[in-house]
Amino acid sequence: MDLHDLLVSRIRDVPDWPKAGVVFKDISPLLADHDAFTALVDAFAGQCGEARVDKVAGIEARGFILAAPVAYRAGAGFVPVRKQGKLPRATFAESYDLEYGSATLEVHQDAFAPGDRVLVIDDVLATGGTVAATVELVRRSGADVVGVSVLMELGFLGAAAKLAGRYPDLPIRSF
Ligand code: IMP
Repeated sequence: MDLHDLLVSRIRDVPDWPKAGVVFKDISPLLADHDAFTALVDAFAGQCGEARVDKVAGIEARGFILAAPVAYRAGAGFVPVRKQGKLPRATFAESYDLEYGSATLEVHQDAFAPGDRVLVIDDVLATGGTVAATVELVRRSGADVVGVSVLMELGFLGAAAKLAGRYPDLPIRSF
């Protein structure tokens, strides 16, 4: 089985969760499968090739689970991008629109050094608002986002194309 098929086979659709009409992609079976999880982590880490990565930023909460082992594998540090109000020190904050209402993400102001090369990782790319807010947070620190890698994109929402328009030089990768 190739990597794509292996990963897809370990993600299950949960209809009407967290609310009616939404089909939630549940990655729990993938995380629980050693072969699939390690293959994914290795593939994420390999996407940067020989290019140096200083920090891997993981987006709360499932992004943490994926980004931390990738940071270890890539010889980089890990930075959590957190929901509002969770980080104890001074933060940068970015708000973005959801279908109903808005959300805010934060990072510590000293999480990235100016010039750091940062790989952003999350599990699912849906509308792209979460990833765009994260790119802005990294840039406000004076660091460079060298790539965005997600396990899967919900293609029918067109987020990768939208992000490519906004960030033309930024590789957005999914499996
Ligand atoms: P976006 O901002 O609309 O792109 O939503 C992406 C964020 O929502 C990511 O942090 C995902 O973890 C989460 N998300 C959206 N849809 C799903 C899903 O079907 N399964 C798991 N996470 C999802």
